[in-house]
Amino acid sequence: TNPYRGARIVVTGGGRSGTSAAAVLQRCGASVQIVDRDPRVLTTSLAQQGITYAGDLAELPEGVDLVVTSPGWSPRQPLLVDAAGKGVPVVGEVEIAWMLRDPAVPWLAVTGTNGKTTTVGMLTAMLAAAGRTVAEVGNVGPPVIDAAVDRQTGYDVLSVELSSFQLHWAPSVRPASGALLNLAADHLDWHGSAAAYAADKARIFNAQGISVYNADDAGVCAEVAKLPTTARTVGFTLGVPDAGQLGVDGDELIDRTYAAAGGREVLASVGDVSPPGPHNVANALAAAALARTVGVSAADVREGLRRYLPGAHRNVLVASERRDGYVVDFVNDSKATNVHAAAASLVAYDHVVWIAGGLLKGASVDDVRPLIERALPFLRGVVLIGRDRGVIADALRRHAPEIPLVEVETTDDRAMRTAVDLAHELACDAGSRVNATVTVLLAPAAASMDMFADYAQRGDRFAEAARQVAEDS
Ligand code: ADP
Repeated sequence: TNPYRGARIVVTGGGRSGTSAAAVLQRCGASVQIVDRDPRVLTTSLAQQGITYAGDLAELPEGVDLVVTSPGWSPRQPLLVDAAGKGVPVVGEVEIAWMLRDPAVPWLAVTGTNGKTTTVGMLTAMLAAAGRTVAEVGNVGPPVIDAAVDRQTGYDVLSVELSSFQLHWAPSVRPASGALLNLAADHLDWHGSAAAYAADKARIFNAQGISVYNADDAGVCAEVAKLPTTARTVGFTLGVPDAGQLGVDGDELIDRTYAAAGGREVLASVGDVSPPGPHNVANALAAAALARTVGVSAADVREGLRRYLPGAHRNVLVASERRDGYVVDFVNDSKATNVHAAAASLVAYDHVVWIAGGLLKGASVDDVRPLIERALPFLRGVVLIGRDRGVIADALRRHAPEIPLVEVETTDDRAMRTAVDLAHELACDAGSRVNATVTVLLAPAAASMDMFADYAQRGDRFAEAARQVAEDS
């Protein structure tokens, strides 16, 4: 079925997903115009397909049947407000992919405030280990529509990462199995409120399919409670699992959902999960829960976890230095760009010297306080960088005055090297006291744009400095 033949469609935002959607829709017999500030988004190839450039519109032209918006566009953009006022539906590329998909190919989808990319990567590895032909698409990867519709290359399952923005614009999407990893405050300016953010994320659940959820997260459980009682749900927990759940017992990842009645299947051991840390064990359980819904065996879950190569800048050990009686490890988690992510990261190591700071995106001393309380048993020192470092410094002085704290006052090119030098000194102090591995952890709890092009550049600068410090001493 093709609901788009003859439709007049405006695509807002000529980025990767917008241009993919435009091409597919034009091929479906729609007439497609692209709205963007930059006329160069209309490439020769798009123009040859009959797609046109509409300019940078604030008002919707008469006669438009559908607006397809880029996920980043806020619902408060004038053009989208105008569309809503005129009763013209606004959806995203993922919605189009869903409408035109091959129904024989299941979507296994993941959302959550943190851990999406990691979980989808683990899921893809498990499916590949089971010999499935899987496409990994969505949010940070290629547009969903490329694999779901555009290039029918024989995929038999899709591993889909969906952001809250993408879900907001995809009201019809009902993944065969969908997982909600966690819910913490993020992007509230965009969604308008925490309730609206949670409701958009909860669209990952499908009352007719299988809903995988984090049983340890109160906000997630509140969304699950809204599902009809007939819905099939699978919880995962870092505790010992109840019947019907996945969880952890000692050193083992356990599945109590698909084994024979009363059964208990060992999927893998905690040591098979990388990067390390309880949050990644939770991600592994979520991925396993999804993989099992399409029949992946316990052995292939384990094999997938072993083969999975962690993404760059996510808890990666970048340098290590053996000293007299202890070791200093340098771990790059530059991707910890919000407070919730940094909190998860900090508790993954026994002795931590924490490098943090940057742009806090509105988070306050009160928002930072729970993180500090959780991390306190592991913290051996803190080095703060970046524009909003004062907020974290205030929270530390108030709630953890005993932890050694240094602030790097400059935000110039040398600031990261200075931070790593200072952190290294604190780590050596701590190491000679505890005689165990001390981890210098970059987990900023903040965005990077005050000092760096992006989180990747921030992580690269950290890794360079760490390698130099480890070699020099
Ligand atoms: P996303 O794709 O949702 O941004 P990533 O998998 O890229 O998530 O991980 C981003 C960061 O979030 C990681 O570097 C880590 O600090 C943190 N993180 C990963 N998984 C979790 C989780 N399950 N809970 C909390 N924080 C997490």
